[in-house]
Amino acid sequence: MRELREAIQAYGVGIGDDVVKVDSFLNHRINVKLLTEIGQAIADAFREDRIDCVLPIAASGIAAALTTAQALGNVPVVFAKKGHHVNVGADVYTAEVYSFTHRASSTIRVSRSYLKEGMRVLIVDDFLANGEAIEGLRSILRQAKAEFVGAGICIEKGFQPGGKRLRAEGVKLVSLVTVEAIRDGKIIMAGED
Ligand code: 5GP
Repeated sequence: MRELREAIQAYGVGIGDDVVKVDSFLNHRINVKLLTEIGQAIADAFREDRIDCVLPIAASGIAAALTTAQALGNVPVVFAKKGHHVNVGADVYTAEVYSFTHRASSTIRVSRSYLKEGMRVLIVDDFLANGEAIEGLRSILRQAKAEFVGAGICIEKGFQPGGKRLRAEGVKLVSLVTVEAIRDGKIIMAGED
């Protein structure tokens, strides 16, 4: 996706050899125009898939999930919460997710009342790296007997194994931009030298 690619070129920062920092427009300060275009692009890829609900994980996947859900005709967004919340209650589906950026596991929770058997669900996230977040969300969908239709990702890191594994399984995975490598702080995207 051209607009996202240009934003990464202009404002993205590579940290070490495996972290892409895009918090000036994607997941801390948020460029709403760009996020709206991202939502359109993900929605276009899943328009024929009769999506009932979009499922991101707190917090950084929520912005793209909102604009995707809006572009799909205002389907609901149900986001997986991290940690304990008294207001979520005990009637929840849970999964353990190892966070690539926090280098620690946490429990994610979704209230049973918001995911129902047979619902067609699209997972949306800002990044795909090792695929841990998607596996946690898929576990929750299995518990709910909801259908995992596919995943829409803003930035896939092609040098980490999550994307390859999901595609090998036949999962419908749509990534708007793929980062191939980080070299000396420079973010190399697919199709570049
Ligand atoms: P995975 O679960 O696929 O290993 O990693 C994806 C999750 O970790 C996403 O929810 C995302 O928030 C976070 N993440 C993974 N890699 C990066 C990265 O390079 N930069 C940022 N900002 N977040 C990342």
